[in-house]
Amino acid sequence: MHRTILGIEGTAWNLSAGVVTEEGVLAEATATYRPKTGGIHPREAAQHHATHIASVIRKAIESAGCTQIDGIAFSQGPGMGPCLRTVATAARALALSLDVPLIGVNHCVAHLEIGRWQCGIDDPVMLYVSGANSQVLAYRQRRRCSISKRPTPQYRGGRYRIFGETLDIGIGNALDKFARHAGFSHPGGPKIESEALAATEYIPLPYVVKGMDFSFSGLMTAAKDALTKHSLADVCFSLQETAFAMLVEVTERAVAHTEKNDVLLAGGVGANTRLREMLELMCADRGAAFHVPEKRFMGDNGTMIAYTGLLMLASGESLPIEDSVVIPDFRPDQVDVTWR
Ligand code: AMP
Ligand code: MG
Repeated sequence: MHRTILGIEGTAWNLSAGVVTEEGVLAEATATYRPKTGGIHPREAAQHHATHIASVIRKAIESAGCTQIDGIAFSQGPGMGPCLRTVATAARALALSLDVPLIGVNHCVAHLEIGRWQCGIDDPVMLYVSGANSQVLAYRQRRRCSISKRPTPQYRGGRYRIFGETLDIGIGNALDKFARHAGFSHPGGPKIESEALAATEYIPLPYVVKGMDFSFSGLMTAAKDALTKHSLADVCFSLQETAFAMLVEVTERAVAHTEKNDVLLAGGVGANTRLREMLELMCADRGAAFHVPEKRFMGDNGTMIAYTGLLMLASGESLPIEDSVVIPDFRPDQVDVTWR
């Protein structure tokens, strides 16, 4: 029997619904909120999602041409509270009215699962770089503790461990804030990337890696200050070189520590050609393979939520409505990976 799952994503500016079965992706529909000025306003983004969610879901189901839905998966977090609540409300209502299981999916875990699926890889180190998130993740089996006197919890697979993460803002957020200061509209990442191509000089900026974690807010402020003395192109270039080197360093150390052979890139900032080039070089040096999913599966998409929901449901996971509260700071290492 093939299960068909509808997945709904709406943690930030992208509202998206995907329909998948074990066989593949049946359909996806999307509506993106674009702020007129400034960055993403959580209440306005949630209002956008509320306005479009019925039509996005209808479009996905109609294009999939399926007569039956066996489960409703939704992004339970991390994300902006108002956006998460809008999506969760729709997901609960649908699960109740269709009388099918509800599945709460961690957004970061979903990026990893769709990457494994689409790139045909088993066990990567993932660099996840988006607006709000910057993390280096990899799977770890849970070890049973032989010396603890406490009863061992029932063994249920492992978890995706966070090997390094941002101590303040996400890399995308840092790029967007700098770009707004420089007069670019949202999203700023692509504009910084094209501006950087005209650079002639690297300007030293704060390189902040602490242990396995990185921090971007000081770097972003220093880049803003540098605009008073240097050309926009040079600052864009130097900001990218510095921030991306920090990300690649931590990813490389996670690869060395875990001895995994694959590196997966995910998140909106993963569209950046220079970041890809730097990761490719690092992987070539280490003898690891570098993987980038198709563009539509790199950013936030409903398909990744549907697919992870499918894996979870097949391993017996579902969420009672009364436990389906959204978790704006949901960490991937809180999730028992019961499907591996
Ligand atoms: P997400 O949160 O995954 O939807 O990703 C959105 C973020 O990706 C925003 O901060 C964008 O500025 C950033 N972004 C998109 N394209 C690029 C690019 N080519 N280079 C750098 N950042 C980018
Ligand atoms: Mg994301």
